[in-house]
Amino acid sequence: MAKIFCIANQKGGVGKTTTTVNLAAGLANLQQRVLLIDLDPQGNATMGAGIDKSGLSGSTYEVLLGTMNIPGARQASESGGFDVLPSNRELAGAEVEMVELDRRETRLKSALAEVDAEYDFVLIDCPPALSMLTLNGLCAAHGVIIPMQCEYYALEGLSDLVNTIKKVHANLNRELQLIGLLRVMFDPRITLSQQVSAQLEQHFGDKVFKTIIPRNVRLAEAPSYGMPGVSFDPASRGAKAYIEFGSEMLERIKTM
Ligand code: ATP
Ligand code: MG
Repeated sequence: MAKIFCIANQKGGVGKTTTTVNLAAGLANLQQRVLLIDLDPQGNATMGAGIDKSGLSGSTYEVLLGTMNIPGARQASESGGFDVLPSNRELAGAEVEMVELDRRETRLKSALAEVDAEYDFVLIDCPPALSMLTLNGLCAAHGVIIPMQCEYYALEGLSDLVNTIKKVHANLNRELQLIGLLRVMFDPRITLSQQVSAQLEQHFGDKVFKTIIPRNVRLAEAPSYGMPGVSFDPASRGAKAYIEFGSEMLERIKTM
């Protein structure tokens, strides 16, 4: 049985995709079988895993609409050592087209049942919105990982996201838990970052991952080479932090 996690935060540009791609590569390094699902029409995770999003023969879009299954649409990320269900802008249309369909919030969950036994982890990169796409991710998952930057406004959106997780747990998916908050793009020289980080620990306790991902330019450069930072420059501080995060996740799921 695969453990299925959404990497979600409705705020844009907070490090969701970087976290999904590098956690996937980090877990693959630890001999885990990983499927990354790109649930964002921007297709950033697809590109970051080294897959050209422009000419896809199958994608998350077809899987959600039920015209293709995951084995038919997935591809291998050579640079990352994991499988990818890719996506591109076509996926934006799924939001509208799914309105007509039955059980529209559990379509991803149903599609995943078929490949569940083939993986140890399924990581879902969510778009920056609490939309029908994100809802499909949340209904399919056992848990949510929230990457966040330690800045003033970060805490504002957090309560909306935590409330959404609670609602989905209560009404649609009893298995869903908040796994943890991951501090990313962290710069310890900034006093406000230290303060927000301390506030997070006070408020969320054990739900804050011990690993902190530093701001590191190698992580930002890697996607332009179609590689996860973890594979692009394994010795960089950013790569090391994501590898450590992979180990922390393996520890954490033992207690799930
Ligand atoms: P969106 O909401 O648009 O999907 P996102 O939450 O997925 O964005 P990313 O695309 O992962 O965020 O990151 C936003 C930008 O910050 C990217 O240019 C990425 O390369 C850069 N970035 C992410 N993490 C780091 C880091 N630890 N150090 C330096 N740059 C980073
Ligand atoms: Mg993204």
